[in-house]
Amino acid sequence: MTVKNSRVPLVATVAALAGVVALLAGPVPPPGSVRAAVLRTPATTRPVADTPPGSPQTATSSPSGVPRPDGTAAPGIPGTATTAGANGPGPDEPGATRPGGLPPVVDHGPRTGNRVALTFDADLTDAMRYQLRSGAVRSYANLAIVDRLERERVPATFFLTGKWVEQYPQVTRRLAGNPRFELANHTYGHLAFTADCYHLPRIDRDRMTADVARTFDVIAPYGGRQTRYFRFPGLCHDRAALAELAPLGITVVDGDVVSGDPFARAWQPIVRAVLGRVRPGSVIILHVTEANAPMTDEALPFILAGLAERGLVPATLSEVLAGHIEMPVRGGIE
Ligand SMILES: [Zn+2]
Repeated sequence: MTVKNSRVPLVATVAALAGVVALLAGPVPPPGSVRAAVLRTPATTRPVADTPPGSPQTATSSPSGVPRPDGTAAPGIPGTATTAGANGPGPDEPGATRPGGLPPVVDHGPRTGNRVALTFDADLTDAMRYQLRSGAVRSYANLAIVDRLERERVPATFFLTGKWVEQYPQVTRRLAGNPRFELANHTYGHLAFTADCYHLPRIDRDRMTADVARTFDVIAPYGGRQTRYFRFPGLCHDRAALAELAPLGITVVDGDVVSGDPFARAWQPIVRAVLGRVRPGSVIILHVTEANAPMTDEALPFILAGLAERGLVPATLSEVLAGHIEMPVRGGIE
């Protein structure tokens, strides 16, 4: 079993998350990161307007297939009923656990079979918003990744911060409209839930539950494949943080393959990191944050090809974790 509680973040995550530190430096990112983002203009990526947060209800009621300002459409996907307004645990949603016990923490699914989960975190902090407003950064939504996943019909799971959803409602609608994509929760504003978490600003303990609940509220109206999967910023959590989230009926998902894509300057190390560690049941951590992970879309085709060579098939998180810990939990598990 790979389920555990109160786990100390893996040392292996340090490299991948080092770039997170830069978010805290306010408007000053690490050397080269913004330059790389600004200079890089992937042909398949369209600019996304900094659309003000719209009413999610309005968004979900828009007609299918209507072109959006960012060039995306809201495809009509039969069978993807919305769960608008559902703040409480949806008992049928993947990852739902009985509220009250410590949430289970999962790194990966069963090592049998041949499925692996591609997960993409969508971070957005106030410092990143400042970068957008100042014009230093063009986009934190990597549409080239979404384009490729759609084009090649690849399943994936997106861990969304509430602020990212509010910044990119059209992209969120597009993700929710794809029956191969699952939506999960990555906090509202990417604050740290423990002390000493890569210098991320820390959220007060008495605000943790509301922060994560609010994020579910922000995501839920978009419908699609909603889940109760949750990922801590920096993967940083302790027993106190888990206890605060106990009322929410969630499953905490870390991951066992850290790609190291934040602030990468080349795609090759990302590919090596993923293909060097991936195994059946793996949960691969990537980012869809464009300017803060500017090489991920270039690494993706090589990752997909490498998985295929190994006989590994991408699947949604719920499919990869199927048969794993999905039941109500009380107290610690080991
Ligand atoms: Zn994150």
